[in-house]
Amino acid sequence: MQEFDVAEQGKGANVEQQAFARATEEASAQLDLVKAQLTDPAKQAILSMHQELLQDPDLLAQTYAGLAEGKSAAWSWRAAFSAYSARLEAQDNPLLRERANDIRDVGRRVLALLAGVKQAALELPDGSILIAEDLAPSDTASLDPAKVRGFCTRTGGATSHVAILARSLGIPAICGISQSALKLPEGLQVILNGNEGTLAIAPTPADLAAAEQDIARLAERRAAEAKSSMLPAQTSDGSRIDVVANIRNAADAREAVAKGAEGVGLLRSEFLFDNRDTAPTEEEQAAEYCAVADALGKDRPLVVRTLDVGGDKPLSYLPLPKEDNPFLGLRGIRVSLDRPDLLRTQLRAILQAAPLTQLHIMFPMVASLEELRAAKAVLAQEQAALGVSGVKVGIMIEVPSAAVLAARFAPEVDFFSIGTNDLTQYVLAMDRGHPQLAKQADALHPGVLAMIALTCEGARAHGKWVGVCGGLASDERAAPLLVGMGVTELSVSTPAVASVKATLARWSLADCQQLAKDVLALSTVTDVRHHLNQHAR
Ligand code: PEP
Ligand code: MG
Repeated sequence: MQEFDVAEQGKGANVEQQAFARATEEASAQLDLVKAQLTDPAKQAILSMHQELLQDPDLLAQTYAGLAEGKSAAWSWRAAFSAYSARLEAQDNPLLRERANDIRDVGRRVLALLAGVKQAALELPDGSILIAEDLAPSDTASLDPAKVRGFCTRTGGATSHVAILARSLGIPAICGISQSALKLPEGLQVILNGNEGTLAIAPTPADLAAAEQDIARLAERRAAEAKSSMLPAQTSDGSRIDVVANIRNAADAREAVAKGAEGVGLLRSEFLFDNRDTAPTEEEQAAEYCAVADALGKDRPLVVRTLDVGGDKPLSYLPLPKEDNPFLGLRGIRVSLDRPDLLRTQLRAILQAAPLTQLHIMFPMVASLEELRAAKAVLAQEQAALGVSGVKVGIMIEVPSAAVLAARFAPEVDFFSIGTNDLTQYVLAMDRGHPQLAKQADALHPGVLAMIALTCEGARAHGKWVGVCGGLASDERAAPLLVGMGVTELSVSTPAVASVKATLARWSLADCQQLAKDVLALSTVTDVRHHLNQHAR
């Protein structure tokens, strides 16, 4: 990483202030340029967030304090962003640690401008596999996807920018590779297998030829799958499964429908609440929910999840006490019940979308029936006040108690949606963003699969449907297993819609059920993965 020499003493507060203002303006203009070359909204959002950081009041106040003491703009800015990122870095929370990365990244962009240094862009030959401690978010956003065939980073779990980017580009990545991989010499040939999470070093010509063949076969398969992505999702013997999408906003909804999604199985409403100084008003929220509903139309389902924030996903205007263990603290529905004003406003806004689509409302992080009943009581009052009926109500199954008690929850809901990301972390007691545990925190662990099976049994006994909206649903090898257990809705990331639909079309329901029976008898995650690979179609 480039170091910058900066003078401590400034040339007068006025001069330095002007230099600083020019540098932040230019940094913002640079980010606009990079954004304009991108088509992926997720990557654009990362850079927009960097632009917002350039106006962060804390960062600016600290920088101005340095200028007032006669320090140079570069020196004051570096001190400000270094202290800020170090503070976030020291947090337990993976999302805040991720934010520290962003601050350093945009900090260095401004610093380079102040120091008059041109930042070295990543120059990569064709067919590169990038191995790094971590990648600066703006590096990942501006990488040329035509040249990069894969990433490996030592840090960053499933929530890291690198993981998000790799998913959106559909290229293999390993987040949490061993330290020794960083010492590999440049230009060495390697084979990266994202499915297995392996990096083969110095492969033989035969290995390379086999890998190239696999890659070509996969590309052909993806192209064929894309052609049938608009067909209804069903098994080879005609059992209908809903393949729907996980989205954040109306733009995502439009893209999902264009790629063949049959509705939305998870609208993560917290994205409307993020990156703001105040909570969105009822009107602002209603406008977005209605825009999403419009994009889907009257015949497609829309599942809106109520606000899922808390210790691990903080909001600046919703001060919550610092917690030693935020994943086990005030999260999801616990926050909504603690702040019924927020919940009521949100429910009223969501209900306005009811005439436009097949509306479903879903509560996150439910652990006990009392929570569900309390939330449903608020919903019933708001429905009565607005005269809205016909809305389906469900819960996320992501806390083990809810899975175990599924048969008791089922009579009181219309549906379940299994959040395998959180369910895995709570069943295995492994932080979902932990870089070292990333490989072990696997939703195919027999303990997690047993919980999914229990959920399906509980729902079946009361004639309710079960979906999966966690990351496991997007894994095409897991799709027939989930369907075999009784899942009838898979809510996937948009790039996975075509491959999940195509996989289902290769399996009959009876074969899915046999697969589930065989897999549920296995004892280790290694055995499960092996079995699924052996039986992949
Ligand atoms: C999950 O936990 O699997 C889920 C879908 O919710 P989130 O990833 O938003 O916590
Ligand atoms: Mg969750």
